[in-house]
Amino acid sequence: MRRDPYEVLGVSPEAGDAEIKKTFRRLARELHPDVNRHDPEAEEKFKEAAEAYEILSDAERRATYDRFGFEGLDSRGYSSQAHGFGSFSDIFDAFFGGDPFGAAFGRGGGGRVQGGDIAVEVEISLADAASGTATEVAYELVDTCERCHGNGAEPGTPIETCPTCGGTGRMRAVTRTAFGQLVREHACETCGGDGRIPAEPCSECGGRGRRAVRKTLQVDIPAGIADEQRIRLAGRGHAGERGGPPGDLYVLVRVAEDERFLRDGSHLVTVVDVPAPAAALGTTVTVPTLDGEEEIEVAAGTQPGTVVTLRGRGMPQIGRGRRGDQQVVLNVVVPRKLSGRQRELLEELRESLTPENLEEQADESLLSKVKRALR
Ligand SMILES: [Zn+2]
Ligand SMILES: [Zn+2]
Repeated sequence: MRRDPYEVLGVSPEAGDAEIKKTFRRLARELHPDVNRHDPEAEEKFKEAAEAYEILSDAERRATYDRFGFEGLDSRGYSSQAHGFGSFSDIFDAFFGGDPFGAAFGRGGGGRVQGGDIAVEVEISLADAASGTATEVAYELVDTCERCHGNGAEPGTPIETCPTCGGTGRMRAVTRTAFGQLVREHACETCGGDGRIPAEPCSECGGRGRRAVRKTLQVDIPAGIADEQRIRLAGRGHAGERGGPPGDLYVLVRVAEDERFLRDGSHLVTVVDVPAPAAALGTTVTVPTLDGEEEIEVAAGTQPGTVVTLRGRGMPQIGRGRRGDQQVVLNVVVPRKLSGRQRELLEELRESLTPENLEEQADESLLSKVKRALR
């Protein structure tokens, strides 16, 4: 289903060119795939908005659509550039340098403009989060063209003064109104505000001075990093324009869940089952730790919810190296599905119990048990 372009942009059929342009710029800024890595719908919406803009920003196409709808456009052989894009770089190529894209990000108008930021996501294991790790991230970015070093000219060819604006980079539009002359300035569309254009555009980037490339980068992830923490790599984002500094790269780190541990800041919590008879008699249990399996003693008479603390076996704190603790919760399990023989033994045990067997120890008041459970 193709949606009405007026509806897509949210403008009325009477909207003027300026309003259509302004609305598309705002939408493009909101929906740009760089900003919306996590929203798969954003890219589709962006393409839809781009197609709507393609139709409504061209007087002839708009008139055709107004009279005959999409069928009219189709029968005249019009096909949108906005659809069929495979990746961000394709979209970029189609729009970059052209007015909608350049202006959408407030980059028009000459002067140094900082490059945009990029966000990438990596997932690491809890063990890697504990030890720290180095991981490779791959991402697409707009980089300065190596062939022309960003000036857009084929090497060895001159850069000339823009004939449209005479080198000022600005254009003035004078409108006569009832209140007198209204002068408005905007960036020159020929040179994008630079005032200078290459005599022969660079064969690599087509004169834009920048191009989309795929990069891989090794990122050091510090020991102790938490899920959803971000690492900022200054200057690794998109290249700036007209000598502006590059943007930053943000690496969002996801720490995968480890079913053996619950993480609580720098502490880890593990739950280990102990059969009730073994808890009564005393036993040893095997506990997983980040450093491998460990045997711990379970004292005779251990009560449900008893916590054994393994000091220094938790997660390190970023930049400090000191590790938190691992808390082992002993989950005393009451046997189920008893055989006849087991029933007999337990009945015998029950008959033999004396008040002394069930007496609380000093630290086993109901209150301290509840506190322990809530810890
Ligand atoms: Zn180039
Ligand atoms: Zn110009």
